[in-house]
Amino acid sequence: MDFSLTEEQTMFRDLFRDFAEKEVAKIAEHVDRSEEPPLDLYKKAAAQGFFGAPIPEAYGGVGIDWLSYTLLAEELGKHCLSTAVTIAIHTSLAAMSILDVGTEEQKQKHLPAMAAGEVIGAFALTEPDAGSDPGSLTTRADKVEGGYRLNGTKNWVSNAGLGGVMVVFASTHPGARHKGISAFVVANDAPGVMIGYREKTLGLRGMDIRTVYLEDCFVPEANRLNGENEGWAIVVRAFDRVRLTLAAVALGAAQTALALGVTFAAERKQFGVQIAHKQAMQNYVADTATDIEALRGLVRHAAWLAGSGQEFGRAASMAKYFGGRVAKDAANKMLQVHGGYGFSDEYAISRYYRDVRALRLLGGTDEIQRYVVARAAFEEKGLRIQP
Ligand SMILES: Cc1cc2nc3c(=O)[nH]c(=O)nc-3n(C[C@H](O)[C@H](O)[C@H](O)COP(=O)(O)OP(=O)(O)OC[C@H]3O[C@@H](n4cnc5c(N)ncnc54)[C@H](O)[C@@H]3O)c2cc1C
Repeated sequence: MDFSLTEEQTMFRDLFRDFAEKEVAKIAEHVDRSEEPPLDLYKKAAAQGFFGAPIPEAYGGVGIDWLSYTLLAEELGKHCLSTAVTIAIHTSLAAMSILDVGTEEQKQKHLPAMAAGEVIGAFALTEPDAGSDPGSLTTRADKVEGGYRLNGTKNWVSNAGLGGVMVVFASTHPGARHKGISAFVVANDAPGVMIGYREKTLGLRGMDIRTVYLEDCFVPEANRLNGENEGWAIVVRAFDRVRLTLAAVALGAAQTALALGVTFAAERKQFGVQIAHKQAMQNYVADTATDIEALRGLVRHAAWLAGSGQEFGRAASMAKYFGGRVAKDAANKMLQVHGGYGFSDEYAISRYYRDVRALRLLGGTDEIQRYVVARAAFEEKGLRIQP
């Protein structure tokens, strides 16, 4: 395995880095304080092809490889987690699910507009009583003439208020759990869709996260993704993709947290010297730098598996689980390096501290990632463990 970047990957990385440093970094603080999604920035990012980065050129995307796609998530994650996660959900969960299992007609209908960022995608799986256990979802899709009628409530739907389409999961065979779930592409403004209030959140305050109510929402059969009762396969693959993407976001965020801490420690003086001279501070820096390189290895490995067409779910869960912890520890340690200033909104580290916390929750919690990793280990012994 050679994880050095090719000429093309280096070119992509430089392009992403340049955009993130010039365009994303300058608005990140405003996004957090105003709690507004940066729509103008999204237009600029779309013009660069970021909303369609991994979508093939045949459907209006750029068609970049997996490793390059993680570089995009990493560079965005360095500066604005709200932006990085918004694009990750649009791409890894929504657009690529359509790419993965959509009919040619569905792909032609949705992907060019999604790749251009004209239509932003959401993924409506979670419900008030079905989080880590989506098999228990209760949103119903009842068969009617020409299609289905959807009824139920979805919460934590990222991007729901950004006026696009959602991949909605509903039960077509109540009682059958995962085996009775079907997926549908539903326009956010379709009759019977009510987009609720925007969540107030600890971090990721520029994200548009909402509850979505479906009331007798008619969805034509042509909008069903994959076969009836075959929605779970979409969820599994979408989770693999988004976990790897979020691990790359964590990698980016951890690097910036470290850089903030190092800069502060090199400037701040106590006891007559810069605090960088204190071994306790050095240890925080050394631990974080080491964690970051270990995380980079996990992200690269999972991206290599994905890019070479191999099964990468376990590797993605490892990277996501480790990434969430590394980003959290990095923000926590570097906040400590800042002393009381780290607790002030005036210093960016406090935003990272709040934002990275979400990475241990969305796309499956830490506990669920650990289950996925442990499941693979026990499977080798012929033992099937349950979450
Ligand atoms: C910022 C953000 C954005 C999100 N965006 C989306 C989105 O776009 N679309 C979407 O569908 N969802 C989204 N979610 C929802 C997210 O996927 C869920 O929050 C997550 O799956 C956990 O579900 P829950 O919150 O209901 O917690 P619960 O499932 O109720 O879990 C509560 C606690 O119990 C633990 N737990 C549960 N089951 C087990 C088990 N078997 N073993 C050990 N521990 C367990 C959990 O790990 C957690 O610590 C988002 C969440 C956040 C925070």
